[in-house]
Amino acid sequence: MARETIVFSSAVDPIAPWREGLEAALPDVALRAPPELSADDDVRYALVWKPPEGFFAAYPKLRLITILGVGADALAGRTDLPDVPIARLSDPAMAQMMASYILFAVLRYARDIDVFEAAQRDRRWHYVHPREARLTRVGVLGLGELGGVAATELARLGFDISGWSRSPKTLPGVRTTSGIDALDAFLAETDILVVMLPLTGQTHHLLDARRLALLPAGAKLINASRGAVVDEPAMIQALVSGQLGGATLDVFEREPLPTDHPLWTLPNVLITPHLASVALPASAAAQIAANIRRLRSGEPVRHRVDLTRGY
Ligand code: NDP
Repeated sequence: MARETIVFSSAVDPIAPWREGLEAALPDVALRAPPELSADDDVRYALVWKPPEGFFAAYPKLRLITILGVGADALAGRTDLPDVPIARLSDPAMAQMMASYILFAVLRYARDIDVFEAAQRDRRWHYVHPREARLTRVGVLGLGELGGVAATELARLGFDISGWSRSPKTLPGVRTTSGIDALDAFLAETDILVVMLPLTGQTHHLLDARRLALLPAGAKLINASRGAVVDEPAMIQALVSGQLGGATLDVFEREPLPTDHPLWTLPNVLITPHLASVALPASAAAQIAANIRRLRSGEPVRHRVDLTRGY
């Protein structure tokens, strides 16, 4: 007998924990990878991260696509998408994991740990007098589900926090501003810049040579959203000249970062392999299941992405 099925596609996420989480939350629904599908499977839903081109054509009864992550750029620009709602994950545990990465990276700079790491390599006792958190100006670009939590956590630690978004926002302890016209002034007053913007037509290479030059000399950059929001050659030039004092980078224009890429050799760069936050089946399965239940009962799907706006 046919049962409703979620088809799963990801080259990076193991299927087993998603199957366990979703089949527990929705006992009458199966989760299958394409090779496991049989005539009993009535594929109504897809859970995907960068599925192969043409993937969706095999599932004409699809009613919902859920991105196995947050960034809609994983699907933007594709011409093979069916006309069904597309939802992203919206998981407080994912936001908390991202906040832990951002807090680590900001604290490392604010407490001069990068300076001591370099001094230790030279067996140098290098005293730098600590500064109060309120004297370090941290600017967060993007105040969405992840950036917003990171900004409020930083505010809780006493940093001088500003945040920038497309539309106006209010966040406790965070000075907020919005719109492209406010960006230049925002950058000029930021000692540590945190990039939490989605990659869209508007944000591609938003941080170019001109805007990087607006930061105070020696400012630090933390990019944990998408590599191409920053013009990489311009960033490298700024890191070499000292305009940027350092960068913590989890994301790159090309991933994995090629072994001969100049970023590997810059002493003031910390590289992590795109893992600031990951999709967590134990908590996200409940959200996906809730959306499927909403769809079945005719209610609007939550956490939809708008591919025309890009996020
Ligand atoms: P959201 O969509 O919830 O928020 C995006 C934020 O960016 C919003 O505040 C939005 O403004 C703002 N924004 C979008 N476009 C513009 C623009 N043109 N100008 C100014 N502000 C803009 O995203 P999340 O916070 O959930 O995630 C952010 C990104 O993090 C994801 O898109 C993904 O690329 C990346 N990511 C990286 C991971 C990693 O491991 N490195 C893991 C997960 C996600 P507004 O509020 O007005 O809409």
